Amino acid sequence: MTAKIRLYVDQPLSGGQAVALTRDQAHYLFGVMRLTVGGAVLLFNGRDGEWRADVAEAGKRGGVLVCAEQTRPLQLPPDLWLLFAPIKKARTDFIVEKATEMGAARILPVQTAFTNSERIRQDRLQAHAVEAAEQCGGTYVPEVGDLQKLDRVLSDWPEDRHLMFCDEAEAGAARALASATRGPWAILIGPEGGFSEAERARLAAMPQAHVVSLGPRILRADTAAVAALTLWQMQLGDWG
Ligand code: SAH
Repeated sequence: MTAKIRLYVDQPLSGGQAVALTRDQAHYLFGVMRLTVGGAVLLFNGRDGEWRADVAEAGKRGGVLVCAEQTRPLQLPPDLWLLFAPIKKARTDFIVEKATEMGAARILPVQTAFTNSERIRQDRLQAHAVEAAEQCGGTYVPEVGDLQKLDRVLSDWPEDRHLMFCDEAEAGAARALASATRGPWAILIGPEGGFSEAERARLAAMPQAHVVSLGPRILRADTAAVAALTLWQMQLGDWG
């Protein structure tokens, strides 16, 4: 039987390995999806690739799966971080989901001068990343960071990490990336209010920064995140 259900588990996966299910996972597999003993699912944990596992025990509050064979090796995304200023809840969820699908390795919410929201639910956002990875066939789940001040993040910025600074005030097209080199990168997307002049000046002065325009229209931050990830993946990522 072919396994269609993909589930993220936080346990080691290898041939013959038994995986104990949490109550929620058991409810999902046996209550919602009606799986029974002998049925198969696909498991991944972000480290050991994807495994087909068969149901050995199915209960209301728990169950056991046993790993049969590896169906995909671990595929790591490029070394790309997405920094974005959180916006409204549904749009922030969207950004995390899309960044996971598009192949970001880390997702870092940052608080900028004009950031509307001062708090995020990191655990909820991380759960969105897990769900997106389950759905898109990924074998890796990006870590979602806690909200940090952009100033602080830039103060500790790694010397060798390029920064694609998306700024709607930048005229012209995305040629800034045409001559860019591969390596560790990050994308920075601002909030609805855009960047302050002080932030712009600071970013422009960073040797790692590449100021990039995403075209002549002002995009909403969630659209801008997807557009920037697309552009970066085509030029410098794992699409080619
Ligand atoms: N301050 C703007 C809106 C900001 S849009 C205003 O006039 O209302 C939110 C973020 O999306 C921006 O900070 C920027 O990072 C990105 N963005 C949107 N449109 C863009 C474009 N055409 N080029 C580059 N970045 C863009």
